[in-house]
Amino acid sequence: MDDLLDAHVKDAYRMTTHKLFLLPGDGIGAEVMAEATKLINWFNQTGIAAFEIEQGLVGGSAYDAHGEAICDADVALAQSADAVLFGAVGGPKWDGVPYDKRPEAGLLRLRKDLELFANLRPAICYPALADGSSLKREIVEGLDLLIVRELTGGVYFGEPKEITDLGNGQKRAIDTQIYDTYEIERAARVAFDLARTRRNKVSSAEKRNVMKSGVLWNEVVTRVHAEEYPDVELEHVLADNCGMQLVRNPKQYDVIVTDNLFGDVLSDVAAMLTGSLGMLPSASLGAPDEKTGRRKSLYEPVHGSAPDIAGTGKANPIAMIASLAMALRYSLNMGEWADQVEAAIGAVLAQGFRTPDLMDDGMKEVGTSEMGDHILAELAETGAA
Ligand code: NAD
Repeated sequence: MDDLLDAHVKDAYRMTTHKLFLLPGDGIGAEVMAEATKLINWFNQTGIAAFEIEQGLVGGSAYDAHGEAICDADVALAQSADAVLFGAVGGPKWDGVPYDKRPEAGLLRLRKDLELFANLRPAICYPALADGSSLKREIVEGLDLLIVRELTGGVYFGEPKEITDLGNGQKRAIDTQIYDTYEIERAARVAFDLARTRRNKVSSAEKRNVMKSGVLWNEVVTRVHAEEYPDVELEHVLADNCGMQLVRNPKQYDVIVTDNLFGDVLSDVAAMLTGSLGMLPSASLGAPDEKTGRRKSLYEPVHGSAPDIAGTGKANPIAMIASLAMALRYSLNMGEWADQVEAAIGAVLAQGFRTPDLMDDGMKEVGTSEMGDHILAELAETGAA
C-alpha cells in the first residue's frame, strides 16, 4: 500500500502546479466549499497534487464588499485559473439590490467573460440511493449519463426578444432561437471528446421535424461526426422523445448533446432520476486554448444558496465535492483521482451516512462537516490502497 502511495507522491514531483480559484459565494455555498477544501488540502498535504489556491467573492457577499456581484480583479483571477470552483449565490438579503448587481449577475458575468459555452450535467445514480429515485430501482441503479448543454446561444439570448403591444388589446411575445454553425460544432466536439473517455456514444437531441435550428443542428453534428469522430457511435433523437426515453430507459444513454433550451429541461429531468438537489454537480467549459489546450472552466453544484438551511450545518456537501471531482477529471488531468473521490462518496452512502435531505429509515444522520470528514477518510483509506 505504501509503495503505491509513494508512487503517487513521486508522480507529484513531476506534476505542475494547478491554480484553483475558489468562489464560495453566499448561504450554504461557503459551507459546502469548506468540505471540498478539505479534500484539496489533503491532496496538497499528501503530495498527490500541487494546488495553488486563491479565493474571491461572488454574489451577495461581493455586493456587500464591492457594490457589484463580482469585481474585475476576481474575474481576472478566474480567467487565469486552471479551474474555478463556485459554491452558490443569492439570498433574501439581496432581493432589493439593482437588477444588474443581483447575486446571479456574478455567475452570468463569469459564464460570459470566460466564454463557457458547454454545460456538463452528469446524472449518476449511486446504488445506495437507488430507492430514493421516483423511478424503480432497476431503471436507475448504476445510471451514469452526461448531458452536454449548449449554454451561451439559442433562444435565451437570440434577438429580437420582446413583448409588443398590438394596440387591439393583444400583446405579442417573441423569443428568437438562433444557432450559427460554429456554436453547434464546438458543442458537438465537447460531446464527442467526452464520449471517447466514456462509453463512446453520443445522442444528439433536437427538433428537426419542426425547427430550422434543429435541421442545422442535426446537419452540423452529422458532419462533425463524419469528419472528426467516425469512431464514436452517433444517434439522433427528437428532444421530446429524449425526455420520454430518460424516464423510460435512461441507461441507454452515454452522452446527450443538445441546445440551451432543451438542455435546460432534459438535464433537470435526468438530474431528478438520481435523488436530491444536494447530489448534483456540474461543469461549464470554454474552448481549448490554442497553445496549451487548456479550457477555461467553472465547476459548481446545481443547487442554490439554500437560505432556509444556511447556517444550520445541514447542507449536503456531496454536489460540491462531486463538482471538485469533475474539475480533477476535466481540467486537472487527475481522472483516476476523480474516480476515487466518486467511489468514496458511494462508499460513505453505502455505509448509511446521510445528510438530512437524503435521510431515510435506519440510516445515520450527519451534518455537512461530518459528511465531508467521512468522504475524506474514505478517500484517504482507499485512495492510498
Ligand atoms: P436552492 O437550490 O437554494 O434550494 C431549494 C431547496 O433545496 C431548499 O429547500 C434547500 O434547502 C434544498 N437544498 C439545496 N441545496 C441543498 C443541499 N446542498 N443540501 C440540502 N438541501 C439543499 O433553490 P432556491 O431556494 O430556489 O433558491 C435560493 C437562492 O439561491 C435564491 O437566491 C436563488 O436565486 C439562488 N440560486 C442560486 C443558484 C446558483 O448559485 N447557481 C442556483 C439556484 C438558485
